[in-house]
Amino acid sequence: MSTSDHNVVLHVADVHMRFGGLHALADVDLEIEEGKTHAIIGPNGAGKSTLLNVCVGRLTPTSGAVIFDGQIITGMKPHEINQAGVARVFQTPEIFPELSVLENVMAPAFAKRDGAFKLNFLHNLGKEAEIREEAAHFIEDVGMTAQIDAHSGALSRGDKRRLELAMCLIQHPRLLLLDEPTAGMSRHDTNTTIELLKKIKERGMTKVIIEHDMHVVFSLADKISVLAQGRIIAEGTPDEVRNDPRVQEAYLGGATE
Ligand code: ADP
Ligand code: MG
Repeated sequence: MSTSDHNVVLHVADVHMRFGGLHALADVDLEIEEGKTHAIIGPNGAGKSTLLNVCVGRLTPTSGAVIFDGQIITGMKPHEINQAGVARVFQTPEIFPELSVLENVMAPAFAKRDGAFKLNFLHNLGKEAEIREEAAHFIEDVGMTAQIDAHSGALSRGDKRRLELAMCLIQHPRLLLLDEPTAGMSRHDTNTTIELLKKIKERGMTKVIIEHDMHVVFSLADKISVLAQGRIIAEGTPDEVRNDPRVQEAYLGGATE
């Protein structure tokens, strides 16, 4: 299981995160392999969002490091980590509510490339038609062509989530992090999102997905890490994790079905 056996895109190396006396993360070591969908599950308050925030630079761990594509990203700013190729969908949708669906998806494409935001913005203005076309492509991808000119603030929660995914896809990220992508969605919207995430998976995009909904996890994950009280208590394929008594005790409370 050394890092040389497979291509590790993200390595969370012995991360600890303390909030005062609370150990939100302790001894967390994780390897996310290229092209895989890696799910992180665990009860409420287990430290899942904290782990994601450490990975995207919103939190600096008390100790340990996060290595992305061979580079230590601990201490880098969120936008720098984003520019390096990490896109993320947070628990609460982060879109520009005043803009249309199309404008929201075009925005990250304008801002992207090399970190020099202003220069790139001006440079990319010359490519507006090209970016518009690419944005329309990803809007179609997430099944929102009919709403392309809709005011995004008025969208349903499920549609906002799909819009955010399109905003991520246009960045062509090397790694996509999703924090409860189906939270608050109807069963229908959840199923649409699962199908969409499966489609993205077929293209070989590496994903980390934090999810409560076991149906979503078992439909998508290649590998699952189980977090409880800030520690990884089990790791393996969906079948291995499902049958692990520690997991049933800590997380599923014995009620696996
Ligand atoms: P999860 O996403 O698994 O539900 P979180 O990562 O949100 O769990 O929280 C893990 C623990 O850390 C919880 O006890 C939570 O109250 C605490 N926590 C999270 N963020 C902070 C913070 N910024 N300051 C203090 N405590 C926090
Ligand atoms: Mg959370």
